[in-house]
Amino acid sequence: NTMREPLYNQRFDDIYFSPEDGLAETRHVFLDGNDLPQAWRGKDHFTIVETGFGTGLNFLAAVKAFEATATDGQTLDFISFEKYPLDKDTIREGLQSWHDDIGEPLERMLAQYPLRVAGFHRIIYSAQIRLTLIFDDVNEAMPRLSIPRGVDAWFLDGFAPSKNPDMWSEALFSGIDRLSGPHSSIATFTAAGFVKRAIADIGFEVTKVRGFGRKREMITARREQAFDAVKVSQVKSVAIIGGGLAGTSCAYALKQYGIEPVIFEAGATLASGASGNMAGLYNPRFTAQRQSESDYYASAFAMAYRQMTLLQASQDIGFAPIGAMHLVNSPEKEKRYSALWENWGWHEDHLRIVNVDEASDIAGVPLEYSALFLPDSGAVSPAKLCEAYAQNIEVVLNASVIPERHGDGWRVHGRDFDAAVLTCGAGVVNMDGLEWLPVHTVRGQITKCTLTGAGFNTALCYGGYAAPLGDGEMICGSTFQKWRDDTDIAPEDDQDNIEKICAVVPSFKDSLEVVDHRAGLRVATQDHWPLIGSVPDYASWQSGDDKDHEGLYISAGHGSHGILSSLMGGFVIADILSGAPLSIGKDSAASVNPARFLERLRKKNQL
Ligand code: SAM
Repeated sequence: NTMREPLYNQRFDDIYFSPEDGLAETRHVFLDGNDLPQAWRGKDHFTIVETGFGTGLNFLAAVKAFEATATDGQTLDFISFEKYPLDKDTIREGLQSWHDDIGEPLERMLAQYPLRVAGFHRIIYSAQIRLTLIFDDVNEAMPRLSIPRGVDAWFLDGFAPSKNPDMWSEALFSGIDRLSGPHSSIATFTAAGFVKRAIADIGFEVTKVRGFGRKREMITARREQAFDAVKVSQVKSVAIIGGGLAGTSCAYALKQYGIEPVIFEAGATLASGASGNMAGLYNPRFTAQRQSESDYYASAFAMAYRQMTLLQASQDIGFAPIGAMHLVNSPEKEKRYSALWENWGWHEDHLRIVNVDEASDIAGVPLEYSALFLPDSGAVSPAKLCEAYAQNIEVVLNASVIPERHGDGWRVHGRDFDAAVLTCGAGVVNMDGLEWLPVHTVRGQITKCTLTGAGFNTALCYGGYAAPLGDGEMICGSTFQKWRDDTDIAPEDDQDNIEKICAVVPSFKDSLEVVDHRAGLRVATQDHWPLIGSVPDYASWQSGDDKDHEGLYISAGHGSHGILSSLMGGFVIADILSGAPLSIGKDSAASVNPARFLERLRKKNQL
């Protein structure tokens, strides 16, 4: 163990862990320093926040200790910031000395290690452990954290204060102050005087203890305080109204949080609406700036990639991460894509701009435009994805239902539930009092064709989109018709889809033949961002009380980005229902919260 060179970081001129024994150091500094596992004994839920994920060694040590000592039903949230995420190979190599001890939990972690995309990444590590990786500067991201139950233990890692003074800032300590729960503790490898004073200034009782190895001293600290825990009711049963992507993904997320959902679907099958398409592309919604809303899609993209990879391993959901080439076919796109590429903070493995030749080369067809290329993007079958999400979940079909308030909960189809989630698309306005929700439908027809001659390798996006399906087939779409709300097949729509792809790939002319098609109605909102969260009570907003309908939630209006948006929405609803730390920034949660529309009406004096 002592022979290997410890992992070194050039930028900070510092090492990731002790040259003597990193794992022993972790256990001494962060576990013993926070009195773990003793401190989580008897607690249903425990939250650790770490600065500087690095290789995840501290996480893995915590996992080992938790799995060895936790009782059934105890859960651990481990949240960690990392501004410069390492790649998987570097992590695996960096931790090689301890494979005997942590090799198995390490591989479990790497199997779900997020794409290196800036922002929040919620990983369901096991039935009892959630890992939230935040790929950002801790000082910028800390204010975005929402942890209703408060933090129990802090692992202040990060390179030495002398080498990384920017991290050990005012913002870090005020974040610790804000987020700490009723009993919280801090452990850090450093003994720097200013760190000690900053921790004491936020009311922690500081102790200097023996450091690891050659380090003489380190700091631990404790604080007890009155804490207004946000009321988290014990939700056990949840009715989900609608069995499309929004409903099934929400059920899937709830199930992973240990909550039993029941899905009620009006149609005779799941995914009878817009989610029933045979193939669909998943792509984030592009904005020039990195903003709360775009972060929602970035987290969703990385999460969908992980979850679809897991699902595809056990059943066919048509998941094909073949990459998507977003053609720069207008001056507006040229501006937006290049700004996005600069601002979003995605690793070039996941997003880059390619010139015409490269684009043509990668896509395998002659193209006439440069492109924004997302190698991890691709296609999936929404219909099969819905089936996969709903595995092992009770589904009631042919149930056209509207939840009714009953006691403290909701009655659906004669059964009582603690909470209900409206995931029925445009149907959400059918409930009394919810007519104000600004949803509308946009018809879309997709066309499946055979393609004679050479095929292509990646999805192409140009306003419309096309994706190879294998076996000489491809799908193209989609029409976008706000004025039409039927789902009859329109031959002119197929024509339209084909003309659009041929306009950007002229070599497809005369080699496409329509073999199938499907029309559906997507549901969008006024501002094109989805509706996710608790449902505000309009009447109470009118009177200035600003209350929600208790136990009533919504995930709808996912528009053209339903595959990504619905899954993230499912996790956000699961977070809220279980009092878990939010799996996205609280600013992102606010920007998809339905209450934003009432706030806007109020500003215009129209409420
Ligand atoms: N806990 C790690 C492990 O188990 O491998 C070791 C952490 S290493 C000493 C410090 C980490 O902090 C590095 O990965 C570095 O990139 C990260 N870091 C440094 N400054 C940061 C900042 N301002 N925000 C977020 N992460 C930062």
